[in-house]
Amino acid sequence: MERLKMTTPLVEMDGDEMTRILWQQIKEELLEPYIDLKTEYYDLGLPERERTGDQVTIAAAEANKRYGVAVKCATITPNAQRVEEYGLSQMWKSPNGTIRAILDGTVFRSPIMVKGLYPVVKNWKAPITIARHAFGDVYKAAEYQVPGPGTAELVFTGEDGQVSRQLIHRFDGPGVLQGQFNLEASIRSFAHSCFQFALDTKQDLWFATKDTISKQYDHTFKDVFAEVFAVEYAEQFEKAGIEYFYTLIDDAVARVIRSKGGFIWACKNYDGDVMSDMVSTAFGSLAMMTSVLVSPDGNYEYEAAHGTVTQHYYRHRKGEQVSTNPMATLFAWTGALAKRGELDALPELAAFAKKLEQAAIDTIESGVMTGDLVGLWEGDVPARKVTGLEFLQAIRARL
Ligand code: NAP
Ligand code: MG
Repeated sequence: MERLKMTTPLVEMDGDEMTRILWQQIKEELLEPYIDLKTEYYDLGLPERERTGDQVTIAAAEANKRYGVAVKCATITPNAQRVEEYGLSQMWKSPNGTIRAILDGTVFRSPIMVKGLYPVVKNWKAPITIARHAFGDVYKAAEYQVPGPGTAELVFTGEDGQVSRQLIHRFDGPGVLQGQFNLEASIRSFAHSCFQFALDTKQDLWFATKDTISKQYDHTFKDVFAEVFAVEYAEQFEKAGIEYFYTLIDDAVARVIRSKGGFIWACKNYDGDVMSDMVSTAFGSLAMMTSVLVSPDGNYEYEAAHGTVTQHYYRHRKGEQVSTNPMATLFAWTGALAKRGELDALPELAAFAKKLEQAAIDTIESGVMTGDLVGLWEGDVPARKVTGLEFLQAIRARL
């Protein structure tokens, strides 16, 4: 068989531990036999980040900006234990944080749905994608433990010397204080990424904040979204037959639970942090959750939502057979290949990516799956537990 050709390289970001093993297996079993794979390879595994003083992460993110589409393996974010385990010279920053800062993107997370694995919420028939604004608010706040009686004020000093001062509270005993901020430019980028992703995937976009209580802060988010939509996207949305819908966060939460799914839910930073854990748990397994970082100028970085599955890796190193689910990592590859196919006008490449996804879904629906899914299985055929590699081989047989 002649292998499919690519024109522009994909930026390939390799990673760590169990997912690094799955990464290689996915390429060998399901990609290289069918595609003349063209990638620009960056090793984001922890040893290489240490060797290059983390320059490899920055170079990979720059390449992502140059070529537009990247696929990333899960990577270790070092903590004190990892510094010892890998003999690190310093506690390198989270690669995802570094890449996100360089691309200025928004993260979209969606579940892969399969017949036989049902969400806890019975009426959810289609995926719900969470778009989390990953900048500012409580994550960059200044905090203070108020020791006793005193006055707290909010003070802003302009470059021109103008001072704005307002009373927060007169404390007559101990308490706590917090100062949050966000940037209009960041909110604007967030809005563009969300509207573009909605157009890309032809899904409605919902956005919600607490603007009735937070009349300046949250209301700014609402206003920026409304303005960006009216000026740049309203017409395109109408043509695509999709909607932008704003509501209060309380109302959104209730509507999401009653919905059929099939839309994008844009969330402020904290709401997205909390709601993405709730939505992904309700959909089933973290191993079935995909993630894509979209920048406002149209760069894409595809990955799995889960980590490097350390516990499985340690058991694998002891020679045990482990059953790690490669679905989300495989879908990172198919997402990236389909996007490359779309951008380079290579319909066969995009079509292959869709067939590969279908073969993977069909494999699970036929009862062949990794251990994490067996306990959740409600299909008609009995579930058969296989290793990650056996699962990939079953997909290949079906493909
Ligand atoms: P994790 O790797 O997501 O794994 C947590 C647990 O979830 C696993 O022990 C496993 O449960 C289950 N699980 C996750 N993915 C699975 C899969 N594909 N197949 C089967 N089971 C799966 O999270 P973690 O253990 O907290 O973090 C491990 C490392 O990953 C850390 O060093 C962290 O820094 C890094 N991390 C990276 C990213 C990223 O690069 N995007 C994201 C998160 C974490 P059982 O053990 O019960 O089977
Ligand atoms: Mg969280």
